[in-house]
Amino acid sequence: MDCARLWLGLLLPVIAALDFSYHHQPEMEEFLKSISQNYSSITHLHSIGESVEGRNLWVLIVGRFPKEHRIGIPEFKYVANMHGDEAVGRELLLHLIEYLVTSDGRDPEITNLINSTRIHIMPSMNPDGFEAVLKPDCFYNKGRENSNFYDLNRNFPDAFEFNTVPRQPETVAVMKWLNTETFVLSANLHGGALVASYPFDNGVPATGTLYSRSLTPDDDVFQYLARTYASRNPDMRKRNPCRTKIEFPGGIVNGYFWYPLKGVKGQIFDQNGTPLPNVTVEVQDRKHVCPYRTNKFGEYYLLLLPGFYVIEVTVPGHNPHLTEVTIPPKSQNFSALKKDILLPFTGQLDHIPESDPLCPIIPLYRDLQGHSAATKPSLFLFLVTLFHILFK
Ligand code: ZN
Repeated sequence: MDCARLWLGLLLPVIAALDFSYHHQPEMEEFLKSISQNYSSITHLHSIGESVEGRNLWVLIVGRFPKEHRIGIPEFKYVANMHGDEAVGRELLLHLIEYLVTSDGRDPEITNLINSTRIHIMPSMNPDGFEAVLKPDCFYNKGRENSNFYDLNRNFPDAFEFNTVPRQPETVAVMKWLNTETFVLSANLHGGALVASYPFDNGVPATGTLYSRSLTPDDDVFQYLARTYASRNPDMRKRNPCRTKIEFPGGIVNGYFWYPLKGVKGQIFDQNGTPLPNVTVEVQDRKHVCPYRTNKFGEYYLLLLPGFYVIEVTVPGHNPHLTEVTIPPKSQNFSALKKDILLPFTGQLDHIPESDPLCPIIPLYRDLQGHSAATKPSLFLFLVTLFHILFK
């Protein structure tokens, strides 16, 4: 018996289970490094920069190919603790990391998730703020901001107004990081209220502010995500019973873990089979001021609920190429629907401009009729906060 125990002990990674307490920076680093050493085949730990006081901003990636993007595998990210005193999200993400790596190969659903998604997890965007929190402090007077006393959640470019606040090292690090990957979906964990919040956080009359709301063109998708998340959290659901009365069409919520959302993904090729970067890919009647563009592999990802859609692919100088797609309901397939699109063009596509000069101007929103503001995840944090998951 002892022999058998010893043998099992040799097979399983030697790592102490994470305790249910708050973890300061040294303990968090020790945990993340031990995870990355013991689960090196499915994790990759890196620092995206440093806080004002020089603490590392750690990101742990979990995925079957953790070190690099693979075509067809969407990138997902979690960011927590951007308000240093909102620490539950930080601990939740540490426990999520432990749950993911220890479930790989044992739980079919998690194994499938790790096979099909590359998950970037940043437990703390504001480690200085976390360390500044005083234990008996029950008021919002220390730790929310970074070390220079700036609120990091008000420190990113804004789609609707010019933000003149000096950009902080933590913010700059995250903005650079966002440009290194094509993030498809993100969640941002806060503390203070128990609710799943979806974008936008601010707006203009054309996005609906006169009706006390500010909606994106993808509002159906975001509402679906928020409701699905809330429905999986008994406390969150109970706190706001009105939300639970909303019917989910086609029962698509039942039986689903909260984030295998259907979307369409694929690559755009020219007639010679060469992947095309910087090509605009949009869903008809769902126009963004700053539309989604293919990445360097010609990849696109569109988050859509089941239904019929027309995808509009536009190469500058050419007419839009239309492709019809139907996303079936109740699909049990974990992965998104794959739809590669071959454009009927030849060699004259060599000079696709890097970016539309009108696009990155901030704020994006110009009160355009029939448009609402862009949702371009690689540039703006308001998409990072598309899930403002608030825990009391
Ligand atoms: Zn917050």
